[in-house]
Amino acid sequence: MSTEAQRAWYIKNRARVLENGRVWRRDNPEKALEIDRRHKAKLKARRAEYMREWRAKNPEQAKIISRNGNATWRKRRPVEYRKSANAYNDRIRDVIFQFFGEQCVKCGFTDRRALQMDHINGRGRDDHRMGLNQRYKLVVEHPDEARAKFQILCANCNTIKRVEQHEYLTYRIQRSA
Ligand SMILES: [Zn+2]
Repeated sequence: MSTEAQRAWYIKNRARVLENGRVWRRDNPEKALEIDRRHKAKLKARRAEYMREWRAKNPEQAKIISRNGNATWRKRRPVEYRKSANAYNDRIRDVIFQFFGEQCVKCGFTDRRALQMDHINGRGRDDHRMGLNQRYKLVVEHPDEARAKFQILCANCNTIKRVEQHEYLTYRIQRSA
């Protein structure tokens, strides 16, 4: 049968075909659900593939859309948003800690609750606003740079380092005055 003939046949027998389908679905509910599920999964995969291609071709627009979508979601469902954001932060924190080793490089303290990322050479101009996500990206995309810039210190060692640096600076200022 040609496509044309198929279409003509379908138009003529449409009611009967649909009725047969309904009867079959009623007699085979499990199979019908399974078919629906598979069909939906296929559509979903196809749409995901299409979106992936589109994002690759339009990175700037994709960024804006994703940012807007995020903001809308955050406004509409603040609790879910927080939950999901926290889960994401936990995941990337895991990656960061795995990368640096989960202990203070000075004293070996290992309780994550009091471990902090320290800027090895003080806070550079570009680094001082670096959030968790940016540090994560640095670790993943530029591991050598990350290792050169950051280390893990515990809260105590970090405080001590800060005080010592401050004392050193004060000393230099006094000497130069
Ligand atoms: Zn320490």
